[in-house]
Amino acid sequence: MQEDFILELALFVFVFGTLIGSFLNVVIYRVPKGESIVFPSSKCQSCQTSLKWWHNIPIFSWLFLRGKCYFCHDTISPQYPTVEFITGILFVLLYLKLGLVWYLPFVAGAFTALFALVMIDFKYMAVPDSINFIALGFALVQPTFVDALLCALMAAGGLYLVGLFSSFIAKKEAMGGADVIVAGTMGALLGFPNFFIAIFLSAILAMIPSLLNRETGVPFVPFLAMATLIVYLYDSQAGHLVEYLIYG
Ligand SMILES: [Zn+2]
Repeated sequence: MQEDFILELALFVFVFGTLIGSFLNVVIYRVPKGESIVFPSSKCQSCQTSLKWWHNIPIFSWLFLRGKCYFCHDTISPQYPTVEFITGILFVLLYLKLGLVWYLPFVAGAFTALFALVMIDFKYMAVPDSINFIALGFALVQPTFVDALLCALMAAGGLYLVGLFSSFIAKKEAMGGADVIVAGTMGALLGFPNFFIAIFLSAILAMIPSLLNRETGVPFVPFLAMATLIVYLYDSQAGHLVEYLIYG
């Protein structure tokens, strides 16, 4: 493919990603409250006025409204443009990694759902099963479906057993059911041995935040998701690392 064509397409993928990010904001805001994600249309959370279409343009609306509601001038959280921007970048990274393959939307869907889980976990220290299963469902749609399914089962089953074992040792519940489903998604996306690298990497990423917040604890899903993305994008390098560690 010609290089400038790749760039133009990357821009298109970015814009598309920000639109999905805009929808993600609705999901993050409404799903934990048990509200519909389709109806009603977006409103200002402060004055409840329905937004105009030009208040809903990803990133730009927030910028030209200077982060304030057009009607009541109350502050709009910078979380909105941030989620839109990150989703756009996420889509571009996955597009550059995979190219235009038929399963790109499904991989992007899986990571988008994981991103929603991350945001909800940060806000509520809990993750909704519905979005968790959507991530897993998307992650399984691959050319190597049977492999992905087996890897998902092994990863989820493995983590479940580790959870049982550590609950037995610590005499309290060490791992939630949500983590087991996330592990399934990771297994489907990464396969083995990269799943182990991601688990190991997430523990490293979580180490300092956990030490800083020893009292309250930190949500673990964000670190699992971050590690999954890193290992997914650098899978061949991760493979080399494993070979190096095993064979020297
Ligand atoms: Zn308002």
